[in-house]
Amino acid sequence: MSIFTEVKANIKTLEVAKAYGLNLKRKGSTYFCVCPFHKEKTGSFAIYPDRGFYCHGCGVGGDVIKLTELLFNLNPLEAAHKIASDFNIPVEGKRNYTKEQKRQFAIEQQKLKDIAEYWANQIEVKFNNLCNMFKLFRELLSEAKDMDKSDINYQWVKFHYDFFDRITERFAIGEIKEQLQMTQNIQSIYEIELKGWENVWTKQLKL
Ligand SMILES: [Zn+2]
Repeated sequence: MSIFTEVKANIKTLEVAKAYGLNLKRKGSTYFCVCPFHKEKTGSFAIYPDRGFYCHGCGVGGDVIKLTELLFNLNPLEAAHKIASDFNIPVEGKRNYTKEQKRQFAIEQQKLKDIAEYWANQIEVKFNNLCNMFKLFRELLSEAKDMDKSDINYQWVKFHYDFFDRITERFAIGEIKEQLQMTQNIQSIYEIELKGWENVWTKQLKL
């Protein structure tokens, strides 16, 4: 097991966030506080127990490692070590392998690393794009706040804001498997939801 898997298997984001000083208030099954990563008063920063965190204000999100990276300005490995040491999580178990086994492992690991790196890049690009779209529609929505709420133009912006908020959140707190699926399918998810939205609104416009 890598140090990342080890750490994530042994501690929850919620516990770490509390220990690192976030002042969380429970609403239903989610915990909220004022976001430590952007200026706000409303408390858009959410922690989903067992999963991860996501800020509905600025779009940052991820797992317990990511949270620690951001809070203390560390790289992922440093963050994992910090959590392991702060919460007494034993890492790097000792095992004995033959030289040949070790050589095989190294080859396999390199292959896996290459694949993982490729997909990590794809995910990162997709996630950044999503964050940018979310920020764009957040701005548009705030510019449109005085518009008639039943206006189709307002509703179009609202649909996109809600869509990108939801998708970015799912992306941010999702397991890597889910992130991969989304990276590959985001376009069709969007098209399906837009179609659904259009259907509802065509009906309403006809009334
Ligand atoms: Zn934020």
